[in-house]
Amino acid sequence: MKKIKIALDGPSSSGKSTLARALARELSIIYVDTGALYRAVGLYMVRHGIEPKDAEAVTAALGGVKVELAYADGVQTVLLNGEDVGGLIRTPAISMAASAVSAIPAVRAFLLGLQKDMVERGGVIMDGRDIGTVIMPDADAKLFLVASAEARAKRRWLEMTAKGVDCSYEQILSETVARDEADSSRDIAPLKPAEDAILFDNSALNIEETVAEALRLIREKGAHE
Ligand code: C5P
Repeated sequence: MKKIKIALDGPSSSGKSTLARALARELSIIYVDTGALYRAVGLYMVRHGIEPKDAEAVTAALGGVKVELAYADGVQTVLLNGEDVGGLIRTPAISMAASAVSAIPAVRAFLLGLQKDMVERGGVIMDGRDIGTVIMPDADAKLFLVASAEARAKRRWLEMTAKGVDCSYEQILSETVARDEADSSRDIAPLKPAEDAILFDNSALNIEETVAEALRLIREKGAHE
């Protein structure tokens, strides 16, 4: 079977990683979570007392960083200097640090080779900012999720409320809109669909419907079967 390559992007809380994981299962390919790479670099900086926004200091510190990916049964492990840091990179502080270091060109260049190696292997779905443009410009299918800010904020609010976190929908909506604005207007790797990406609005779809429609779009593109 052809070793397909699928690129997925979209704004925060659009359900990218949930969709990528489900598609990887359906298509028997590997989901490469590239955000985890930026998170690992962010963790390194925080641990070493380096301000993640300080481009000069972060760039200088990259010499001490080694990031690797390993896969077992389709599950990704991120290694930072040999240590499995999967359990440490999902905190709000590391999200902030990852976002800051991901805007530094030297960090993007540093993580490029590793991501390109994964593309070379084929049989992958990757999500993230520059996947359809820089990392995998020759992807067989590029999907760009475009759920409305209201739909995404509602999902996030339901998720948080289900976890027992006390929060207001209005607050989450305003944060979502602010993050969209920051993500779309930044100079380095802005949130922008590749020219040949398929725009996929899943505002009115639940996860099962989103997966089914994504599979239909991928097949329609002739990328699979
Ligand atoms: O997707 P996730 O939230 O784990 O990504 C962590 C940070 O890394 C985010 O700020 C995201 O914008 C950034 N990122 C990126 N390029 C990628 C993947 C993630 O700039 N390919």
